[in-house]
Amino acid sequence: MAFKLQDLSYSYTALEPHIDARTMEIHHTKHHAGYTNNLNNAISGTALENKSIEEILKGISGHSVAVRNNGGGYYNHNLYWDVIAPGGATNPQGELLDAINESFDSVEKFREAFVQAAITRFGSGWAWLVLQNNKLVVSSTPNQDNPLMDVADVKGTPILGIDVWEHAYYLNYQNRRPDYVNAFWKLINWDEVARRFKG
Ligand code: MN
Repeated sequence: MAFKLQDLSYSYTALEPHIDARTMEIHHTKHHAGYTNNLNNAISGTALENKSIEEILKGISGHSVAVRNNGGGYYNHNLYWDVIAPGGATNPQGELLDAINESFDSVEKFREAFVQAAITRFGSGWAWLVLQNNKLVVSSTPNQDNPLMDVADVKGTPILGIDVWEHAYYLNYQNRRPDYVNAFWKLINWDEVARRFKG
């Protein structure tokens, strides 16, 4: 069973002006499609073919660099498209809000930590909100690594993630990563983050 490139639940123009349609289209049809195809090629004919992506990532230290990079890329972008889908709650609510307040004191302090992690990740990578032993923590990872991987410094379940590879923002923002990160914040679909929080 090969992994499939997930369709977006919205159009490439839906996130404008914060993320432009051209960036969305290239990101989805070239970058995410590439990770998906390369993952399928890397696991073809191996025992990983019948495993879920979560199972593969959990044991990533035992797999090839190609599986690590492309398995991460496949999973991470699925999460990314979902957590910025238009139409959901524009602020954290309910149990997720309580957990954020408990772990970070306030949504504003969480926002500062998340933005800081995204801005300071050197080179290409991701920043995350991670559920770890019933507590929420912020982390970042290089390349296409993520908190599900056994090689991650901070392990847990990612419930929000921002792609800070230049391909995610360079057409519109050039070198201004902080502007992209602040724009991303406005796009977060908190209903989807809450759904992932509840598992
Ligand atoms: Mn990307």
